[in-house]
Amino acid sequence: MKNFVSSILKVSSVLFLSLLAACNTSKPVEPCEVHSFGRWHRTETEHFRKCKRCGYEERSLHDNGEELVCRTCADFKVLALGYLEGGDPAHSDFFKEANEWFPLQAKENGFIYDYSTDFGKLNDDDLAEYDVVMFMNNYPGNKAQQEAFQRYMENGGCWMGWHVSAFTTEATSWNWYFNEFLGSGNFKSNTRNPTPEILKVETHDHFATANLPQQIHSSHNEWYSWSNDLRANKDITVLLSLDPSTFPVGDRVGEIWQTYVDVPVAWANNNYNMIYMNMGHNLMDYNDFEKESRTFSSEEENEFILESLIGLVDYR
Ligand SMILES: [Zn+2]
Ligand SMILES: [Zn+2]
Repeated sequence: MKNFVSSILKVSSVLFLSLLAACNTSKPVEPCEVHSFGRWHRTETEHFRKCKRCGYEERSLHDNGEELVCRTCADFKVLALGYLEGGDPAHSDFFKEANEWFPLQAKENGFIYDYSTDFGKLNDDDLAEYDVVMFMNNYPGNKAQQEAFQRYMENGGCWMGWHVSAFTTEATSWNWYFNEFLGSGNFKSNTRNPTPEILKVETHDHFATANLPQQIHSSHNEWYSWSNDLRANKDITVLLSLDPSTFPVGDRVGEIWQTYVDVPVAWANNNYNMIYMNMGHNLMDYNDFEKESRTFSSEEENEFILESLIGLVDYR
């Protein structure tokens, strides 16, 4: 009898508690004045996000109704700048290849990739639209554009620079960019022809390299060395370098680095949200300008590129 009474009491208290809980959840939640939204979520046709405080939901069709990632629901926006015609065809060919590869990554990873040959976009208004700027194969020569870019970086903008975007033999022509921001100073020498090499992963204590093995296999590239000692710069973290085992580097007589030299290939300046990577010179047949290699052909290097881009935004 005693047991029966206590079990009745137990059941009823459970019932009472569950009723109470039901009452609580059905109680209408006051919508908060300023919603706290997380990221947009996406389906093929629409995007939606929910306020973390009050549960209010925003839901609508993508801007153009077709793309999985539209300008509204994109997690971040990238502007790639450089030239597509003229100059070294190995450099413009890389930019063209990037304009095919990045949109695929953008769709998969939820960002917008815009590209332009107009460095005039380096002004405060246009730059405010973008989370990341990339210099694909060139840099601005115009003073107003250089200053707008410096302001953008000093105010927390993100940047990824490729191969020839660090090339200069007159570093003092834009001292902030070449000596302070990049830290590399002048171009010193290069190998030819473009060759794939083994790159040493210098640290795993960085978002760009955290998931990489000790070494990665690069795609074809023309390798550069620099006048400044990047290792001696306390603001610079070297991420990738030519591995000692990969020498000799290059395959054209007279333009081969026969024995090991320390050559940083990718690095970050810790005072800015930036990563420079010396990648982006495709092997070309200069007689018919046929592409003979692709920059985005190494899975490991692609992982480094993507982790760099997404990490710059996530950790800015
Ligand atoms: Zn709310
Ligand atoms: Zn959308």
